[in-house]
Amino acid sequence: MYPDSIKNLAETIARLPSIGKRQALRLIFYLIRNQDVRRQLIQQLNELEKKIKICERCFLPFEGPGQLCHICSNPSRIQNIIAIVEKEIDVFSIEQTNSFKGTYHILSHLIDPSDINSYNTLRLDQLEKRVRRLPQQIADEIIIAISPTTEGDLTAMYLERKLKNLAKKISRIGRGIPTGGEIEFADAETLKNALSNRR
Ligand SMILES: [Zn+2]
Repeated sequence: MYPDSIKNLAETIARLPSIGKRQALRLIFYLIRNQDVRRQLIQQLNELEKKIKICERCFLPFEGPGQLCHICSNPSRIQNIIAIVEKEIDVFSIEQTNSFKGTYHILSHLIDPSDINSYNTLRLDQLEKRVRRLPQQIADEIIIAISPTTEGDLTAMYLERKLKNLAKKISRIGRGIPTGGEIEFADAETLKNALSNRR
């Protein structure tokens, strides 16, 4: 019913998180009507494709030379304190509090109890390798900075068990963030308190 170019693009856009087929079509018709936005989008996606790299250590996307992001390559960041977060945006939320001097590990997703494979794709092998390369081969502290939602709690419990040999102390932030709330939407002050109240 739609021309192929629209149909194909709609299928791709509908693969993006929280976007359904109808919404995808609405976006495409908007882009067809608005040449400026369309051209900018094409140009900026090309630029993203050319410039963005994923940090070898923490998986944060970055631009610039080398294999490490600006946080991992910063000598004043504490390498043996690692905050585990669900997603990239959470790193930026925590950075905005200006109160964390350690480094990060981005899981990319939480455990989905209905998907057995979701346990194996949390990049924990990479985390272990990285910790074993530290001078003491163990982290001083791993902070589980995951939202207190149902899936977040399940993931946190799994990580606590799985990572207990990788750190002298495993803590979790959460106090101050309402149950069911997400780190992404917590304001800087709340997040700052949650970070200093970790246990
Ligand atoms: Zn990094």
